[in-house]
Amino acid sequence: MEHVVRYLEIGRQTGVACEENALLAPYCTFGTGGKADALFFPETEEGATALLSRLEEESVPCVFLGNGSNVLVSDDGVRGAAICFRRLKGISVKGKIVTALAGDSLSDVIEAALLNSLGGLEFLSGIPASVGGAVAMNAGCFNKTIAEYVSFVRYAGGVLGGRDCRFSYRDSIFRQEKKCVLSVCFHLENVEYEQSESKIGYFLSLRRNRQPKGRTCGSTFRNDGFFAGKVIENCGLKGYRVGGAVVSEKHANFIVAGKNATSSDIYSLIARIKKNVWERCGIRLREEVEYIGKFKDENQF
Ligand SMILES: Cc1cc2nc3c(=O)[nH]c(=O)nc-3n(C[C@H](O)[C@H](O)[C@H](O)COP(=O)(O)OP(=O)(O)OC[C@H]3O[C@@H](n4cnc5c(N)ncnc54)[C@H](O)[C@@H]3O)c2cc1C
Repeated sequence: MEHVVRYLEIGRQTGVACEENALLAPYCTFGTGGKADALFFPETEEGATALLSRLEEESVPCVFLGNGSNVLVSDDGVRGAAICFRRLKGISVKGKIVTALAGDSLSDVIEAALLNSLGGLEFLSGIPASVGGAVAMNAGCFNKTIAEYVSFVRYAGGVLGGRDCRFSYRDSIFRQEKKCVLSVCFHLENVEYEQSESKIGYFLSLRRNRQPKGRTCGSTFRNDGFFAGKVIENCGLKGYRVGGAVVSEKHANFIVAGKNATSSDIYSLIARIKKNVWERCGIRLREEVEYIGKFKDENQF
């Protein structure tokens, strides 16, 4: 007989809010994608830990969602559980250490640091990430990454020092081994309030000038020793469209999802860009965006 998982009961037992058959589109910046069998919203580290062990006991596959700003969820959704960390929030500051929970937004962390005349993370301003997602992805830009400021990470299973997190380009032990980030301690620097504030303004305006507005996942492809955006632009693909998904005219490494876009449109557009770039330039683009759920296999380039 098929094993029936009682998600609502698991939610009640662990004190974690649960929605069954829940649409994931509202929890991703692309705003597309289907349903998860269950969507959980832990609000405490203890709740998240208890939930993870219950799901493991029941052998339920699960995916983690921070702010969903680097993922493309299949239109068919995902079987099993999705855990969304948006409600796991709480920032504290002690000396030069800022501690944040997985669901805090990077912008809230940067603001809390600023209010305490602490700086270092300003370069990340404008990245719409949660702390857990940013650390798992080792978010970065302008030749710097978040890893440089991570002292400790508490994950479901223990604590790791920054040096033991195996940070590399858009990667970490948390992605490699599917470990769940619960909270992060950042070591920051004393700064002048005004100086830090103007740095934040500077980085935000750089983004406004270079990146499109709308529903995107940031850089679609990795910049593996070259700028993927330049390569795509040189292939004449700005404005290239599949259904409701289009390559941005402002920055060719950004795909913008229009009102009626589906995840299949975005996925097919990615496949066609890869094929085009491979055939014209002999370059294999690799996705930075992460696929969640199943997609049909047209993406072989
Ligand atoms: C407008 C825009 C601009 C962007 N600019 C940049 C940029 O300059 N630099 C950059 O690096 N990225 C950029 N991004 C991409 C994205 O914001 C980053 O990859 C970010 O780190 C993802 O964070 P998230 O919370 O949205 O994670 P999600 O997209 O929700 O998840 C990303 C990955 O992290 C995992 N994850 C999430 N939470 C946890 C957790 N608590 N524990 C373990 N794993 C977890 C997920 O399972 C997934 O594998 C941009 C995106 C947008 C939309």
